[in-house]
Amino acid sequence: SDFPILKRTVYGKPFIYLDNAATTQLPFTVIQAVSELYKDYNANVHRSLHYLNRKTTALLEGTREKIQKFINASNPYEIIFTRGTTESINMVAHGFKEVFIEPGDEIVVTEMEHHSNLIPWQQICKSKKALLKIIPFDDNGNLVMDVYEGMLSKKTKIVAITHVSNVLGTLNPIKKIIDLAHIKDIPVLVDAAQSIRHKIVDVAHLDCDFLCFSGHKMMAPSGIGVLYGKKRWLEKIPPLSYGGGMIESSTLYDAQFKALPYKFEAGTYNTGGIIGLKAAITYLEDIGFENIQAYESALMDYLIERLSSIKGLKFVGTPSQRIGVVSFVIEDIPSDDIAIILDQMGIAVRSGHHCAIPLLKHYNLDSCVRVSPAFYNTKEEIDTLIEALIKTSNISKNKGLKS
Ligand code: PMP
Repeated sequence: SDFPILKRTVYGKPFIYLDNAATTQLPFTVIQAVSELYKDYNANVHRSLHYLNRKTTALLEGTREKIQKFINASNPYEIIFTRGTTESINMVAHGFKEVFIEPGDEIVVTEMEHHSNLIPWQQICKSKKALLKIIPFDDNGNLVMDVYEGMLSKKTKIVAITHVSNVLGTLNPIKKIIDLAHIKDIPVLVDAAQSIRHKIVDVAHLDCDFLCFSGHKMMAPSGIGVLYGKKRWLEKIPPLSYGGGMIESSTLYDAQFKALPYKFEAGTYNTGGIIGLKAAITYLEDIGFENIQAYESALMDYLIERLSSIKGLKFVGTPSQRIGVVSFVIEDIPSDDIAIILDQMGIAVRSGHHCAIPLLKHYNLDSCVRVSPAFYNTKEEIDTLIEALIKTSNISKNKGLKS
């Protein structure tokens, strides 16, 4: 009941939202915090000296500190506001391209990356004549760790890896991956887009060098995200964008940049997104991450058990540790047809390649259906989904639906 959008109907049917890996919905407190900002104290943060500006600036810097505590970083200046995971990753990739990557160097990613954590590194390798090394996964969706260990060398400049796969749901052994890289002094970037909401990210414990995530995957507005980086790395890499707010001094032909974090925050902030992100973290903390985890994990178990009973359904990956996501195909029914028929019944899931085409190729697939529940979903909704999937199979069989 905290989420206004979940009370709506779709095509006259109760709305069942099971596409939380794509984006999560916003509780009223978040919507209210954003609307209050624009109603009461909108200003261009860190620019003018008037009352509204001082108020929004304090709110923004307060959010930075809240995020610092949330991920257990040592310093607020290691928290950089971005547009989202994609921009955060591109910032690091650009910096490494400019400063560290030489021909013959190696960058390590996995076969299960979202395009956001694959294509930036792939393109750097192409333009710098470096080598992209890919950690494979087995058919269950678990990384082949032996191959990873053998891959790390003096040539490896960075390991960039997803914490949780947005298709398989695999929770990767990220601490082990980081520890192995650090033995050889190799920095590690963690794509936490799918894990951040589950509060399993503690950068002090993980000791990762970079962490990237998006607000819209944790009940905050879209267009806001975070790059966490260790000071020693952030100080060494140049920014991706230049402009207002990040300049200490300038002449027509040269400029000095501000210290962290502002060096990476050119241009006007997404203040609404930032305030919304703060309210979202507060909302999740108030429910309690342990409560959320316990509830969601039971719901996932129930979902997988119920899906297993559907004739012709094949899971895409059965990883040993899974969080938040399950993907599947049903024999002889195109995944888009499943998603479209479910939509007509008021149920939102995602079909397609999920921005991970190479991952799907592992299974010889172009498309699959993904269901990703959150703590606002219920067992009754899962039951409705299962009934709808059985109906979909029947419709498809009767009508010979094939495209
Ligand atoms: N990485 C992963 C694992 C994701 O699931 C996503 C979003 N689907 C992204 C990166 C990109 O996130 P954004 O579009 O918010 O930048």
